[in-house]
Amino acid sequence: MIDFRSDTVTRPSREMRDAMARAEVGDDVYGDDPTVNGLQAFAAERFGFEAALFTATGTQANLLAIMSHCGRGDEYLCGQSAHNYRYEGGGAAVLGSVQPQPIENETDGSICLDKARAAIKANDFHFAVTRLLSLENTIGGKVLSLDYQREARAFCDEHGLLLHLDGARVFNAAVNSNCDVTEITRHYDSVSVCLSKGLGAPVGSLLLGSRSFIDRATRLRKMVGGGMRQAGILAAAAQIALEQGPLRLHEDHDNARYLSNALSELPQLEVNPASTQTNIVYARCKSGKSAQLRDYLAKQDILITAGDPIRLVTHLDVSRQDVERLLDGVRRFYLA
Ligand SMILES: *Cc1c(COP(=O)(O)O)cnc(C)c1O
Repeated sequence: MIDFRSDTVTRPSREMRDAMARAEVGDDVYGDDPTVNGLQAFAAERFGFEAALFTATGTQANLLAIMSHCGRGDEYLCGQSAHNYRYEGGGAAVLGSVQPQPIENETDGSICLDKARAAIKANDFHFAVTRLLSLENTIGGKVLSLDYQREARAFCDEHGLLLHLDGARVFNAAVNSNCDVTEITRHYDSVSVCLSKGLGAPVGSLLLGSRSFIDRATRLRKMVGGGMRQAGILAAAAQIALEQGPLRLHEDHDNARYLSNALSELPQLEVNPASTQTNIVYARCKSGKSAQLRDYLAKQDILITAGDPIRLVTHLDVSRQDVERLLDGVRRFYLA
């Protein structure tokens, strides 16, 4: 099977499985798990924050971040297409009583800071209290520029807002921006990072922030049922993902660029290669037959998600040869 549906489908390597089998563990709810503690200390240092928390998922890390920054009746500004607005079951509102204030994303994935300014509520008891701006990088595979993120920091400082980054794929952003990840994360009060996407861990995300912020998040993690006991089994794989995963993401970007260039030559598809900045390629089937294409490819053991557009994701379990096989399959579908 070659799986282009997402970079979440990556399987743990032999090395990860060995590390998991050997991991020293303890009860992490007591703070006793040396492998979790090691990962959290390493991550805090790596991203330039006081503290880090290992979480079950990216959704959980974002929820804990919003709930640690905002109280009941507060609100956070976010993109209309933000993961922590659209794809997390409304968790911040459901569980935190925190109201989202979505703002239409610009085509580059950013939130226009003038629109954000206009959305900040006045100090008036009719309104929720605006506390937080939440950005996402990468967003739909697009990278926020370093200049924009610097401006967003200044904007938040000017208006007394906190700034969170949903950095599920922040290492992909760093590869594209040709910088160390800390050049991005230094602008934020908190950052969530997925280890179980292109970095290759089977399970787990990180939340980064100040010591007091992470203490609040740790309490909330327990409340939502995320106090995992011998979690060192997972942290052992996560450690390898964090250390080694970023080093090869450029290969995924090369494969995505190669794929989008080749697909853009097919008249039946609409692909803009210039918009492929990281590991995600979007292709529109002009005929609208993406479900038929999906079924045709599935018979050749190639998995894609049908959609308008189709989203194709490259990752560590997709080689250049696999990309060639997908291209062959797509070409044959249109010849048939
Ligand atoms: C995948 C993702 C998450 C959260 O992912 P989980 O599946 O909950 O681990 C959050 N934000 C973005 C942008 C994502 O792509």
